[in-house]
Amino acid sequence: MHLSHYLTQICTLLFTTKGNRVSGVAAFLAIFAVISLFSFMAVHPASAQQQAEPGSNVTETRILRGAVLFDGNGSPSVSNSVVVITGGKIACAGSQTDCTIPDGAEVTDISGKYITPGLIDVHVHFFQTGFFDARPDAMDLNATYPFPEVVAYQQLNPERYYNSYLCSGITGVYDVGGMSWSVGLQASAEQNPDAPHVAASGPLITPVPGAPFDLPSDKVLVPLNTAEDGIKTVQYMSALGSTGIKFWTILADDEAYMERLEATAEEIRRQGNQMIAHATTLSQAKAALRNGTKLLVHSVSDTEVDDEFIALALENGTIYNPTLIVSSGYMLAYRAAAGIEPLTMADPNGCVDLKTRELLESASQFAKHPRLTEAFMERLRNFNPVEDRVRSTDMLNLMKIHEAGIPIAVGTDAGNPGTLHGISIYDEMEAMQKAGLTPDELIVMATRNGAMAMQRLHDFGTVEAGKYANLIVLDIDPSLDIANMRSITHVMLKGVMKSVDAYSAR
Ligand SMILES: [Zn+2]
Repeated sequence: MHLSHYLTQICTLLFTTKGNRVSGVAAFLAIFAVISLFSFMAVHPASAQQQAEPGSNVTETRILRGAVLFDGNGSPSVSNSVVVITGGKIACAGSQTDCTIPDGAEVTDISGKYITPGLIDVHVHFFQTGFFDARPDAMDLNATYPFPEVVAYQQLNPERYYNSYLCSGITGVYDVGGMSWSVGLQASAEQNPDAPHVAASGPLITPVPGAPFDLPSDKVLVPLNTAEDGIKTVQYMSALGSTGIKFWTILADDEAYMERLEATAEEIRRQGNQMIAHATTLSQAKAALRNGTKLLVHSVSDTEVDDEFIALALENGTIYNPTLIVSSGYMLAYRAAAGIEPLTMADPNGCVDLKTRELLESASQFAKHPRLTEAFMERLRNFNPVEDRVRSTDMLNLMKIHEAGIPIAVGTDAGNPGTLHGISIYDEMEAMQKAGLTPDELIVMATRNGAMAMQRLHDFGTVEAGKYANLIVLDIDPSLDIANMRSITHVMLKGVMKSVDAYSAR
């Protein structure tokens, strides 16, 4: 039995007997249990500590020596660095003079390699599979893959995505919209030595009817028909422990809707939670910012952002997540379904799990689906993903927002059709680089800024003393080209280093 479980049982026993009529036998058992627990802890101090620090090599100190270190803060890289790791946390990171190597420490020489903090994807959806089976609103596959069964599987099997993430160097993810069970992943992933850190918002507040996603016991979309709908959702999700409450698009021109949104946003502040908004037009984004949005996901695509947008974002401390590649992902997934071209993916490390691969390989079984009208087929045939990923307004706004000093975070919208959990972060970073961001800036956006969006910067996001030892080891210099993030060989999570092959699906 796990020690923590044992302790919980004892506490429960003591708690339930206290204040009630305590039976002599129960009291005796409780006291006996406590005595046994203390003697167990005295004999097994290490295992007691292990429970406190799950997934870490608790006592020993290990050193990574010789790599070029990017700490995630944007400070100049350190050649021939030393990273000292004790108890799953970083004790020191810097030059050979900054950090002394304690006697008896296990030293791994990784000269010639590169270290960055573990990557963070601030925009994922655990209920989504990377295909349309979890998006009945976009293409209804219920006859083949009943949505309730798909989403139950997603709830029970997050591990395949944990592996894809760690295999891709991602040690933290933010699920910004899903069923309320996604919020439970935060605590379970934290205890799992082979899971990234998870933050999750739960269901989305929306003007869109939620029906295609509704289950008897859970939902993805909560229509904001009254202010009370919004307030209750905020109260429920906040009490469950959600990190953020997201609005899935904003009817900026609808006064009555905006009144309901304002009342909901006010409740978010009252709960000390953070507002997230999906906004693709300038008026939506500004309406979201006026209501205190802390995280904007998706790009402002209709027009150039203005001074008011910038002032509002700076005032709020808002983080901007451009989410550039997801729309081309949809088109590529439709093309695969239509049998035009299979969904190809650069996945040399085999990070994508088998079930996802099988799902995508059988995509063309839907070639006769009524969604694929002749007019739509024409668009699909003419689609050019390379052009779609460099939409000029998105790119322009990204640079303008960055230059104004608004923090940018990397997020893919993984789980959406054609945007796969884990590996899609490379395409997203490369698209951001095409917009004009430098690899050095992108390293910060994909690490520190992601942790900031998850509200976990005190725990991870940079390679600095006191934080979890979450980092990745690369063969090729990422500051030359962000595509070199693909040269990852190892990932360290809470001080435990593994080859990415350990998380490969091959
Ligand atoms: Zn999304």
